Amino acid sequence: MSLCGRFCFNFHVRIITDERCAGYSRAGHPERPARITDTLARLKNQAELSLTFDEPGRITDAQILRAHAPEMLARLHTPHDFDADTPFYEDISTFARASAAAAIDALNIARNGENVFSLMRPPGHHATRDQSMGFCYLNNIAIAVLAAAADFSPSPPPTEERAGERRQIVSSSNPLTPTLSPLGRGEGVGFKRVAVFDFDVHHGNGTEAILLNQPGLEFFSVHQHPAYPGTGAANRGRNCFNYPVAPSAPRETYRATLARALADLKNFSPDLVAVSAGFDAYVRDPLADGTLLAEDFYWLGQSLRALNVPFFSLLEGGYSRDLPELIFAYLKGVEGK
Ligand SMILES: [Zn+2]
Repeated sequence: MSLCGRFCFNFHVRIITDERCAGYSRAGHPERPARITDTLARLKNQAELSLTFDEPGRITDAQILRAHAPEMLARLHTPHDFDADTPFYEDISTFARASAAAAIDALNIARNGENVFSLMRPPGHHATRDQSMGFCYLNNIAIAVLAAAADFSPSPPPTEERAGERRQIVSSSNPLTPTLSPLGRGEGVGFKRVAVFDFDVHHGNGTEAILLNQPGLEFFSVHQHPAYPGTGAANRGRNCFNYPVAPSAPRETYRATLARALADLKNFSPDLVAVSAGFDAYVRDPLADGTLLAEDFYWLGQSLRALNVPFFSLLEGGYSRDLPELIFAYLKGVEGK
């Protein structure tokens, strides 16, 4: 693969983040601003990793609507909680769109053969096509993966999409359609086979529901079961593969299950891997009963890098106070150090 030449020797990671994503919170809610601000402080006060920091661009309605029903956009402005876990916040639409835009940016950076991690909130993998839930408002990874797949077009794209070097992926019928992110240099390079690897301790039910039986896409999720949201006990459709791990299963069992899922993913021979990076399978995470240690997240980063396939990672869960150290360990693995 042509990207590999650059990718394999790139030891630098671009972090997409925006401290403004710390701008919403509800007292006592585990999905809290410090997840980002503490991690940023950790990443900016170290010299071991070679990191740069970019702010996300913007996203169009049409990019979101590849993954979601149109009613979702209006619902984000309706001032009622989505469920007991998923409060309504003023401007949650802006925050959710920024997180999804960061996912698109991460995709485009991966296209260029660079390492990238989106350090944003809210997370996304529980949001289904028509329902925000589980701290998630828009499904960031599904939006990015569907963009990657949409760009792979065996037939010529519409004329208007061919014009210009940095074409708009979507129609410009929305008068608020923003300019494309400056990070979006690689747009237009499509991927035929895209795998999602979700190692958050909770099943990525939203991603599964959106990607179910979509050609060219495969979903691999390793998660605790039973646990929220209750799904993920077995495989679904032709392309969704679930690897449930029992609560408090020994660390070796958890890690062996992750390795098995990665081996299956490798057999799919993806030309792009999108990673739902949740750090709540950590032994001290308050929301689940996982048994992983920081070194296991390092190993995950290393293992994904070893696939020699472009990949990008988006922050999903992770609620312990050690989250900055877990992300640091993962990025160290991604950098190949
Ligand atoms: Zn989670």
